[in-house]
Amino acid sequence: MSNGLVSSPGEFKHFKTTVLDEGILLASFDYFGKPVNVLNVESMSEWQEIVRYVEQSVVIKGVVLVSGKEGNFCAGTDLEQMHDAQLQRSFQEMEQLVITAHKLFDEMERSPKPFVAAVEGACLGGGLELAMACHVRMASTHPRTSFALPEVKLGILPGFGGTQRLPRLIGLPAALDMITTGRAVYPRQAFRMGLVEGMVTSIPSTVRTLERIQKETLVEAAIAQARVLCSAPVERPTLRASVRFFSAPVIRTLICRYARHQVVKRVRHFYPAPLCAIDAVGRGMALGVLEGSLTVEKPLLLDLIASPISSHLVGLFLAGEKVKRNIATVPTAAVHVGVLGAGLMGSQIAGQLTEKGYEVVLRDVASDILAKAMGRIHKAQIAQVRKRIILPSDLRYRMMRVAPTTHIKDVSLASLVIEAVSEKLDVKRAVLAEFESEARPDAIFATNTSSYTLADIAASAVHPERCVGLHFFNPVAKMQLVEVVCAPFTSDRALAQACNLAKRLGKFPLVVHDGPGFLVNRILSRYLAEAVIMVAEGISIRRIDAVAKNFGMAADSGHPMGPLELLDLVGLPVALHVLTSLAVLGSRIESRDALLRNFLPEGKPPLTFWSSEKENPQALDAVANYRRANPSEAGPISDDILHQRLFFPMVDEAVRCLHDKIVEHPWQVDFALTYGIGFPAFRGGLLTWSRETMTKGHVARELESMAIKYGKRFEPCPALSNGGW
Ligand code: NAD
Repeated sequence: MSNGLVSSPGEFKHFKTTVLDEGILLASFDYFGKPVNVLNVESMSEWQEIVRYVEQSVVIKGVVLVSGKEGNFCAGTDLEQMHDAQLQRSFQEMEQLVITAHKLFDEMERSPKPFVAAVEGACLGGGLELAMACHVRMASTHPRTSFALPEVKLGILPGFGGTQRLPRLIGLPAALDMITTGRAVYPRQAFRMGLVEGMVTSIPSTVRTLERIQKETLVEAAIAQARVLCSAPVERPTLRASVRFFSAPVIRTLICRYARHQVVKRVRHFYPAPLCAIDAVGRGMALGVLEGSLTVEKPLLLDLIASPISSHLVGLFLAGEKVKRNIATVPTAAVHVGVLGAGLMGSQIAGQLTEKGYEVVLRDVASDILAKAMGRIHKAQIAQVRKRIILPSDLRYRMMRVAPTTHIKDVSLASLVIEAVSEKLDVKRAVLAEFESEARPDAIFATNTSSYTLADIAASAVHPERCVGLHFFNPVAKMQLVEVVCAPFTSDRALAQACNLAKRLGKFPLVVHDGPGFLVNRILSRYLAEAVIMVAEGISIRRIDAVAKNFGMAADSGHPMGPLELLDLVGLPVALHVLTSLAVLGSRIESRDALLRNFLPEGKPPLTFWSSEKENPQALDAVANYRRANPSEAGPISDDILHQRLFFPMVDEAVRCLHDKIVEHPWQVDFALTYGIGFPAFRGGLLTWSRETMTKGHVARELESMAIKYGKRFEPCPALSNGGW
């Protein structure tokens, strides 16, 4: 085939190719059988064949690499394949893939024929490493286009040469930031930092044939670029002056030291991957790209792949994909959405909706509340303009898509209405009644309640089948989980529409069955209530939070947080409301109302446990007052017991939720708590942690002995005692 005279490299399963005028090979990556392009042994060996063919062909003068998938350039390594290797503890194939990638990308980089990547859509991990091995990258400004090396979020490092090429392309500080945080950059940012050489406004064709793709502005620009590069010998890229400056040994050492300090500050030592990545970058800069890739990056990567932390993180990632995949499709998705309540949650939800192109009617009872809500939405959007994620014109369109109103009849166009009004049952029921009289007869009513059941709210609904729960978490932009609550009366259509909307917002729509606190708040309430009980016993605020932080709570968010700081964030009134309403669960939810009332002085804002990173002196006074009136002594308590008191009741409650069929599978609990409350992902989730680190029956036995010492609330459920979950 590769005798140099054949003008096409042949037929492939995952690539389509055609040779254009002047010998430009247009290669479209279109992984067969997957919605996104992935790099695995199969696709990589096909790409290798194409690269080898190009080298030997006298006809081909240059290559333009595009994606055959709309909205995805390449998602990187095939994580399903990697997770199989992790579960089977068999890593030879992964090692072979890494070696192939290093050699192949090196061949591309050294090729005398130019490779141009035309990037539209997500360009992630191995996908970005593939693009970086090209001589030039052109990006479309489409909102879906983004660049990231998110490997550290999976417990590994960019292992197809990313730790070697990125610092040479954009300089050490920016590269270390991208690599150690996994954060995405958008086309305008990428252009400014030198990650892409050109940027084009281009509309992707929905029909992804080679004929159509080559007419896209982006691809035309990439082809033109390839033609220019073909006309002169390809020069090996030289380091820009600023990049060279950062590569000097002394500067490099200082920058790497600073990066290590930042990582430890953010995620402590829970995650080895970002520290290994810094090591790979720092040591690799003294070597050539291929040598650095093979001798420094590869061994570090293989150790990380084999670690339980990476296996947990990849497992959770794949669980998220499963959550997104398992939802029913809807014939026509909602375009017009109503949001009732423009408070803390309603305004954030409306902001997210307009970002994703929905037309939103935002309704509250007074204009001044609406004005404040619009101000909050504007502030969040302007932050994106400042960061060069969107253009000022995008900001204007986004703001124009939100229509504030005080009239319920204005939601009459909406096919889905999200209720985020004050957490009062009579208000919610009244709003539902208004909705039923004014909204379209087929419109869906989705409540964001955090403490009532869907059955409570829809008790007097005329059409309960149109009611569903959409439980967002605060802050909405950051928290990826949305509980989609399904009651026995919820129709399949309502459920599918709600899931579809959550997915379009980029969230994980986890379907849970109706019940007090649904899944996440029900389990969380055991943890928060116990923390408050410990405060009431006189255990210090700092110590309680420190035990949770040392376990890694919320470490993934970059801001480790204990239960009392979390209570401050949620707000005591809301938390008290949730705890009170969860009293229906029985004796295992004990609320120290008298203590919490001391934290809610009449006519004043509620007290917080923390103030400017110190225990709040007013909170300490409130606790002292409570303890004078309610003297109790728990006696000395070790950190181990303190830890068990916080986390073992959560395991008990999770098993009860499985038993009550709130969700069906333990992985759903693990997933929900990781993405809903920041249970440390590196531990694999609540139930995985308890199963992997403790012997069967251990949690139940400890709970039984704590029940004797501290009270009935610790009594384990029969399923936990029998170990049968
Ligand atoms: P909020 O008090 O900030 O906002 C509620 C808004 O509803 C207020 O602006 C109020 O004026 C408005 N409102 C009252 N009656 C109304 C009516 N008839 N029509 C339209 N608007 C009306 O409350 P929030 O924190 O945004 O919570 C809203 C809902 O979201 C609650 O159900 C809450 O449980 C739930 N939730 C809150 C959080 C959180 O962290 N605060 C998290 C998840 C879910």
